[in-house]
Amino acid sequence: MATKWWGWGEEQRTFPLPHAEQFWAQVSSWLGELGVGQRIESLAEVALPPSRLESKALDALRAASGADSLTTDSVDRAVHSLGQSYCDLVRIRRGEIPHATDAVIYPETEEQVAALLNAAAERGVAVIPFGGGTSVLGGVEPLGAKPTVTLDLQRMNRMLRLDPLAATATLEAGVLGPSLEQQLNAKGFTLGHFPQSFEYSSLGGWIATRSAGQNSTLYGKIEHRVESLRMAFPGGTIATPAVPAAAAGPDLNQIIAGSEGVLGVITQATVRLALLPRRCDYRGYVFPAFQAGVEASRELMQSGLRPSVLRLSDEAETEVTLAMRAPPRALMAAAEGLYLALRRIRLEDAALMIVGFDGDEDQIRSDWRRAHRILRRHQGSSLGRSPGRAWERSRFELPYLRDLLLDHAIMVDTLETAVTWDRYLALYRSVRDAIAKAMDGRGLVMAHLSHAYSDGASLYYTFLARQAEGREMEQWQHVKAAATDAIIAAGGALSHHHGIGSDHRPWMSRYLGEAGVRTLAALKQTFDPQNLMNPGKLMATSEDSSDV
Ligand SMILES: Cc1cc2nc3c(=O)[nH]c(=O)nc-3n(C[C@H](O)[C@H](O)[C@H](O)COP(=O)(O)OP(=O)(O)OC[C@H]3O[C@@H](n4cnc5c(N)ncnc54)[C@H](O)[C@@H]3O)c2cc1C
Repeated sequence: MATKWWGWGEEQRTFPLPHAEQFWAQVSSWLGELGVGQRIESLAEVALPPSRLESKALDALRAASGADSLTTDSVDRAVHSLGQSYCDLVRIRRGEIPHATDAVIYPETEEQVAALLNAAAERGVAVIPFGGGTSVLGGVEPLGAKPTVTLDLQRMNRMLRLDPLAATATLEAGVLGPSLEQQLNAKGFTLGHFPQSFEYSSLGGWIATRSAGQNSTLYGKIEHRVESLRMAFPGGTIATPAVPAAAAGPDLNQIIAGSEGVLGVITQATVRLALLPRRCDYRGYVFPAFQAGVEASRELMQSGLRPSVLRLSDEAETEVTLAMRAPPRALMAAAEGLYLALRRIRLEDAALMIVGFDGDEDQIRSDWRRAHRILRRHQGSSLGRSPGRAWERSRFELPYLRDLLLDHAIMVDTLETAVTWDRYLALYRSVRDAIAKAMDGRGLVMAHLSHAYSDGASLYYTFLARQAEGREMEQWQHVKAAATDAIIAAGGALSHHHGIGSDHRPWMSRYLGEAGVRTLAALKQTFDPQNLMNPGKLMATSEDSSDV
């Protein structure tokens, strides 16, 4: 199936809007009159600068990985030179590829990756590992001054081993979500890792960015599921021991997880599996306000219960979610209205929660008994299973809506953090207000909680405004900087699961402190003293510095 170069996913697929006209009228009531987003017809219109790799370097790279593994085709180079962020999509739709990679290589084995890295190191060529290319922080854009090759790992997609006794599987890093789950499900297991980008992102990319799936409250973030891994770097390969736990100094898995391609190429990983659950039972609850839902979430997490899904939308996001759904039939609407009136809930001001458990019948029943008591105590009212089913059906669809919003010249982006419960609501408000102010009060900001822990939870913001024509990048930069400053000031994580890339990099020294940044630089020096691996991402090096 062909995928879009100008947006998300399959070329023919779009976001289903049951009442499109009504929806767009609602959007323009929030944002003002909508425009028409710019989009060139075809990537063939884009004139990239010629590849900077000389023929000797190309020959050496081909020798390392096989003749049909390397291409300098301009469309291939273009789609590998940007990821999937708002700015990436605005630029590629206009045909602007400011930093083009010089070649794309598709290795098939770890030996080829190692040989490629050595060939690149001999010639001073920079290397960018590329999984699914769904980075939203500039993670795959070539940024250094050196000629650059992009290593697309899509051909390294095999399951190498499944150990049913340990419940672990070893897979090559380029495997994408659906193929990984199919192979595991066939043996009765799951990894339980379902980021919204699941269909197009890779195991290696997840580990390299410390990704979180929508069921992470039960299954953990990806780094919690890595038992061991292998990483090739210029001049060597490191393999971490496959043991359930160890006390042998700092955990190397955790040093490599989140390394975003700046240390080397993760070639394979052994991951911890879970038994495929017999049932998943997700339900909707409404709370009279976001704050009540946050308190319920905290108590739920501290009670020892482990919901598989726990998502709580603030009032603004709840309103938008309701605007997108098909209006219920008259009878249903009346029943819904009566139910909410009895509970004194105005849906327009409410906060919607999707919450539920995975497991077997008895365990789910007993989990629900306890969970329901906690949610009720915080004024949560059950809406039954249909909101849970609706969420499950559409869980990978929202990125398609972004394409439609871009077609209407709307700036739309998301950003995320995590924070402890004591600071949760203060951070929620200050970041929301900073984003709204940076959009001059003319946009829409909404947020949700979607990954919860006993000590705190994530916050995920979506913001929309009409694009400032001709100043789209500056407009976005202004909002992003205001939000990131507010996150750091309020004691939040610089990122909970998207990573650092180039977009968050300027805040790293404020976030980690000088000793923290020095520690990362020392790791870089150990694995990649020539600064060839994904330059310009995650950390400043001696060649560049742009701290804020
Ligand atoms: C619509 C949309 C929804 C998203 N939803 C989520 C979500 O729910 N949860 C979430 O966590 N993220 C989400 N993301 C962000 C993104 O999907 C994740 O960061 C994902 O982990 C990236 O995987 P990838 O295979 O696409 O990596 P890429 O985009 O190819 O690469 C990301 C970074 O990792 C490096 N890298 C990739 N593979 C390797 C490797 N094998 N070895 C070393 N370095 C490597 C790259 O160099 C780059 O720095 C979303 C993105 C989009 C566009």
